[in-house]
Parts: sequence; C-alpha cells; structure tokens
Amino acid sequence: MSDPDALIEARMRFIYTIRSRGVTDTRVLQAMEKIDRRAFVTGIFADRAYEDMPLPIACGQTISQPSVVALMTEALQVGPRDKVLEIGTGSGYQAAILSQLARRVYSLERHRQLAQAAQKVFDALGLNNVTAMVTDGSHGLPDIAPFDRIIVTAAAEDPPGPLLAQLRIGGIMVVPVGQSDTVQTLIRVIRRDDGYEYEELRAVRFVPLVEGLGQ
Ligand code: SAH
Repeated sequence: MSDPDALIEARMRFIYTIRSRGVTDTRVLQAMEKIDRRAFVTGIFADRAYEDMPLPIACGQTISQPSVVALMTEALQVGPRDKVLEIGTGSGYQAAILSQLARRVYSLERHRQLAQAAQKVFDALGLNNVTAMVTDGSHGLPDIAPFDRIIVTAAAEDPPGPLLAQLRIGGIMVVPVGQSDTVQTLIRVIRRDDGYEYEELRAVRFVPLVEGLGQ
C-alpha cells in the first residue's frame, strides 16, 4: 500500500473497527493508533496488516487479531507505573501496545527467531521500555517478579502456577484457557490478599502454550 491517502484511510478504518468491537478505553485506543501494526507483519501478508484478522508470522505462529489485542489490553487495566509480563512475544505487537501504557514490559518467547525479530522492531521504533527474551514463559521470570500485570497470549489448560505466584497482590492476569484445538475462554485473574478471583470474559482462539524452547 504505497498511496498515502489509502494508508491513512486504512488506519482510520482499523481504529474504527476496534472501537466497533466494544473497546472504549481512550489510552488503549491511542496506543493502537500510535503503534503501526504493519511494522510487525512481514512478507506476503504485510498488505493485510490493517484488517481485523490474525495473520501468519514465522515459526508457524500468528500475530493476534487487533480487536482481541485491544480487548485483552483493556481487560488488563494497565497503569503508567506498572511492570508487565507477557508470555508469547510472537510478532511483538501486543508487547509494543503494552509499552505505551506501562512503565516496563518483559515479553517471553520460546522461539529465538521471533524474539530477535520483535526486539529489532522495538529498537527501530524507539520503544526502549520493552524487552523480548528467549525462554519458556510458563515459568515466568522469577528474578524480576512480582508483576503488576501478566498477559498470556497462548492458550494453557489452566493458568500456569508459577505465573499466578509471580502476580503481586492486587495484580491482574489475563489468560486464555482451554484445549488448544477448540475455542478457549479468556479469563481475568485478580490476586487478592486471601487468594485468586477468576472472571470469564469471552471466547477466544490462540495457539497453544508449549513447554520448552523452540527450534
Ligand atoms: N502476542 C503475540 C501473538 C502470540 S502467538 C503478538 O502480538 O504477535 C503465541 C506465541 O506464544 C507464539 O509466538 C509462541 O511461540 C509463543 N509461546 C508458546 N508457548 C510458549 C512458552 N511456553 N513460552 C514462551 N512463548 C511461548
């Protein structure tokens, strides 16, 4: 898409679609407006970056549907002083959106190629409060815990125990749970003094959370 007017129109429609899916948080909408999804989609799908669709990326993974990114970000209720952990960097798009809302973002990815590519885009865009790291994210990041917010962008059968343990009291986690090959449920977990509170948000579909490092 080289025509500048067509580009502006496509990006306006992009935000309009996200709003029409029920996203109202102004900070989230501003972040979605500022971070260009096109920077996170390469190859033959680049021209479809402004469609509200998940798209294939390297290593057989996907960049999530933009309206789902926006709804999950809204559900996470990120504040400007928050330290946020993401599991499943993928393209880095979700992490880049979070970087606009949080103080610091750590994003974990089991495929080195994806983590490296995402970090390059963060650097190119000057996003210096977000880091992609290569590790099995189901163990979290014990050295940097506790986190104010945790977002998991791959589906687990249950919220992983280490991640629950690394959520600070009063903290919020958003995670898709369910079998990987069916529709999953997005849940929000709030850690209270005396335990965890669970709330079901909506049906979603994510690639599975897989143990160990990728190729
Ligand atoms: N948030 C991404 C999309 C996530 S796709 C984006 O904005 O583009 C899910 C990602 O989770 C995939 O890249 C997959 O490799 C990664 N993943 C799956 N299991 C993982 C694990 N145990 N640890 C870290 N990353 C994992």
